[in-house]
Amino acid sequence: MPDLIYLNGELVPRDEAGVSVYDHGLLYGDGVFEGIRAYAGRIFRLEEHLDRLERSSKAIMLELPLSRQELIEAHIQACRANEIRDGYMRAVVTRGDGDLGLDPRKCPNPTLFIIAASIQLYPEELYETGLELITTSTRRNSPSSLDPGIKSLNYLNNILAKIETNLAGVAEGIMLTQDGMVSECTADNIFICKDGAVMTPSLATGSLDGITRRVVLECAEAEGLPWGEAVFPIAQVYTADECFLTGTGAEIVPVVKVDGRVIGDGKPGAITRRLLDSFRALTKSEGTPIYD
Ligand code: PMP
Repeated sequence: MPDLIYLNGELVPRDEAGVSVYDHGLLYGDGVFEGIRAYAGRIFRLEEHLDRLERSSKAIMLELPLSRQELIEAHIQACRANEIRDGYMRAVVTRGDGDLGLDPRKCPNPTLFIIAASIQLYPEELYETGLELITTSTRRNSPSSLDPGIKSLNYLNNILAKIETNLAGVAEGIMLTQDGMVSECTADNIFICKDGAVMTPSLATGSLDGITRRVVLECAEAEGLPWGEAVFPIAQVYTADECFLTGTGAEIVPVVKVDGRVIGDGKPGAITRRLLDSFRALTKSEGTPIYD
């Protein structure tokens, strides 16, 4: 498979695709990004990802170098150049090349690159056995200092929590708000099911407005399952009937243990499976075509 990166309007071989050491994306994490997935030759929910990219960049006063239509075409171009049918795209917009001060006004031209690659799928057995989680001691950034709703290049908050999960030997970790309410995981949103209802932390907890989270809520509605967004403490997770995580890479992954507590009967639950089936049906039936 060719390895070509879309970089500022050109397709550049991976080994030659570089950004300046003065790029503020690198110096300060000053930039925004998206992780997007393609299924069977179509880009899933591209418009929603671009909506979020536009919201993130607006929030940090970073003007995107391309219009909406140009962004769509750039993603298609990156996929075509790499012969992607099923894959993962990483779109990154940085503040661009500047000087050593942090003033964004010194960066006249943003840098935009799109990596379109094959996807490293989670092992299918994970969907059969389920994940174990811990709650991390690193709290999610407060929206009053750095709103986690801005999908910025500044991911150290999540990385510090991820280091905790690595040390604990588990694959993901739950991050709480400054007040100790459940927010999300280091790179996934979290859901619980109780008495047949599907519940996820409200965006007021500083969780990312995940595209998969949205799709899962749509699926719950279509399946006639009661659902809601709420603010709840970790004990609600311990006592849930089911728990699962959502994300572009993960899709919907069942959780069977949290902080040593077995969730439900310790096996992926029926609602989780139902939602995963309807989610996968959607990924097979819609999306922006990459090829004519
Ligand atoms: N929360 C965080 C912190 C994330 O980085 C992500 C994306 N990996 C998600 C949630 C899930 O969002 P999405 O469904 O849009 O991939």
